[in-house]
Amino acid sequence: MFDALSERLGGIFDNLTGRGALSDKDVSEALREIRVALLEADVALPVVKDFIAKVKTRAVGEEVIRSVKPGQQVIKIVYDGLVDMLGGEDADTSLRIDSPPAVVMMAGLQGSGKTTTTGKLAKRLSEKGRKKVLLASLDVRRPAAMEQLAILADQCGDSVSSLPIIQGQLPADIARRALNAAKIGGYDVLFLDTAGRTSIDEQMMTEAAEIAEIAQPQETLLVADALTGQDAVETARRFHERLPLTGLVLTRMDGDGRGGAALSMRAVTGLPIKFLGVGEKLDGLDTFDAQRVAGRILG
Ligand code: GDP
Repeated sequence: MFDALSERLGGIFDNLTGRGALSDKDVSEALREIRVALLEADVALPVVKDFIAKVKTRAVGEEVIRSVKPGQQVIKIVYDGLVDMLGGEDADTSLRIDSPPAVVMMAGLQGSGKTTTTGKLAKRLSEKGRKKVLLASLDVRRPAAMEQLAILADQCGDSVSSLPIIQGQLPADIARRALNAAKIGGYDVLFLDTAGRTSIDEQMMTEAAEIAEIAQPQETLLVADALTGQDAVETARRFHERLPLTGLVLTRMDGDGRGGAALSMRAVTGLPIKFLGVGEKLDGLDTFDAQRVAGRILG
C-alpha cells in the first residue's frame, strides 16, 4: 500500500531538499506536484483540495523561506497535514466495551473482510484484554459465512465461543438470542456479524438498522476493503447515513493498493479509523496509528 505515492513524494522532496534556498514559487510548484501525486493515489478531490490549502497556508511565506532547512520544514508541514487528514495523533482508536455484555456490530459489504475481522478482534480482546467473547453470525442467507465464524471462534481459544446455529431463524431473532446468551453466559463482549451483499441495497440497510435498534451496540464498525479505492469511501458514506457507525476498519492494507481509500476515509466520513487488516491470518490486525501511516508514506 502507498508504494507509488511514497515514491512520488520522495522524488518531490528530494528536489526540495537538494537546493539551499527556496522561493515561494518553488514551494508552490512542489505543492502542485503533491496535489497531482495525491490525486493519482486516488485520494478524493475535496480531501486533496483541503489538504493542499492547509499546507499552503503554512508552507508559503517568510517562516519557511527564511528557515535554515526550508525543504525539511516543508516535509514536516506535509507530514503534519497527512496526520491531520488521517484523524490526528490523538484519534481515539480504542473500542468502547465497558458495560458487559458490550455489543459490537460489524457491518460491510460481502467480501470486505467482515467475518475475518470479527475473528481477529475477538482473538485480540480475549488474549490482550482477557475478555470472554461471544460471536454470532446474522448472515442467514449464507450458511458458509455462519460456519466460517464458528471455525474462527474455535481457532481463537477457550475464551471465544460462537452462538450455536439454529436453522430458519431471522437475523433479528438471532440478535435477541445472542444478547440473551451473552447475558446469561457472562460474556464481556458480543460481536454481531451482520449479513453483507455484493453491493449496497435497501434490504441490507433496513435489516442492519433493525439489528442496531434491537442490540443497541456500543460500537458499530464498518469494515471496508482498502483495495477498492473510492468505492470503499462511497460505501462508508452510504452506511454512515443509515447506521450509527462509530468507527472504521480498513482491510487488505497488506495489499498492493494506491492508498486513496485509506487517506480519504476519515475526512469524507468523519469517522475514526480504528484498525487495519494486514493479512488473512487471525493476528493480521493493527491498531490504527495516524503518525505511523503518515511516516510510512513519507518513507
Ligand atoms: P466477509 O464476506 O466480509 O465476511 O469477508 P471475509 O472475512 O470472508 O473475507 C474475504 C476474504 O478476504 C477472505 O479470503 C479473507 O481471508 C480475506 N481477508 C480479510 N481481511 C484481509 C486482510 O486484511 N488482508 C488480506 N490479505 N486478506 C484479507
